[in-house]
Amino acid sequence: MKFLASTGTKGGVGKSTFAILLTYKLISKGKKVVLCDCDVECPNDHLLLNRKLSNKTKVYQPIPKLDKRKCRKCGICAEKCRSNAIFWIPGGYPKFIHDLCNSCGVCWHICPFGAIKVSKKEIGEVYSVKIDKNFWFISGKSKPNVEETTPIVNEAKRKAIDVAKKINADYIIFDTAAGIHCNVVHILRESDMIFAVTEPTPLGLHDLKISLELAKKLGKKALVIINKSGIGSEKRIQRIAKKYKTYIAGKIPYSKDVLDAYVKRDLKNVHELLKLKVGL
Ligand code: SF4
Ligand code: SF4
Repeated sequence: MKFLASTGTKGGVGKSTFAILLTYKLISKGKKVVLCDCDVECPNDHLLLNRKLSNKTKVYQPIPKLDKRKCRKCGICAEKCRSNAIFWIPGGYPKFIHDLCNSCGVCWHICPFGAIKVSKKEIGEVYSVKIDKNFWFISGKSKPNVEETTPIVNEAKRKAIDVAKKINADYIIFDTAAGIHCNVVHILRESDMIFAVTEPTPLGLHDLKISLELAKKLGKKALVIINKSGIGSEKRIQRIAKKYKTYIAGKIPYSKDVLDAYVKRDLKNVHELLKLKVGL
């Protein structure tokens, strides 16, 4: 089983479009695929797949809870919390600011009086949808205002691997969030093949360099995919790819067929328009 990742630092560059076209392309070759939407703050693959999210598992974050009977108001927990998630005034009980807490666990381990228990807070959901016998779809989704969404990404990934093992899948395709933050790094670090999606526009060029630089820092090579191919010169993309010792591994044409399929949420019928120069 191989882990593939569709990524890019710019929102709306076509990561999801590519991930879905690649999924359908592989399925058309008889492969079994699990597609996992890891953009948990703004998941949209289900919209493009024209599927309702179902079969929900709740995701919780461990958070500290004070046992006032045991607390001696020493303030050590507040002093050691690196996220400033504990507010303490000398002589008073500590107050936990759960929105800032990243569940590192330092406070409940360090309290000398065992006054901090572990509670939990619901932060999101993971959905698993069987599209057909060769295609499962997993999607994470965070609740509004949740700062720490990594546990949701991890749970979506865990679920995708679980399903992939059960159906003996050939590939898991991770569709990452935009950017280069922890949630993206977690996925790229474990991927066998990374596809950096870009478009022939000034913003696309700028963001491609960031994606390729991130992959390089992780000791990986990202292959370049051009979305909206045809709207501008691709020479500069070629030069950037060469600089990072990679190449343009695929193109999605800027065509009425792709746009129509996108609007109708029926990308299945245009997967052959995705031209790939990589063996999968
Ligand atoms: S470290 Fe423990 S005893 Fe000290 S203030 Fe925090 S909860 Fe209370
Ligand atoms: S779990 Fe970590 S981040 Fe959260 S309040 Fe305790 S020390 Fe701070």
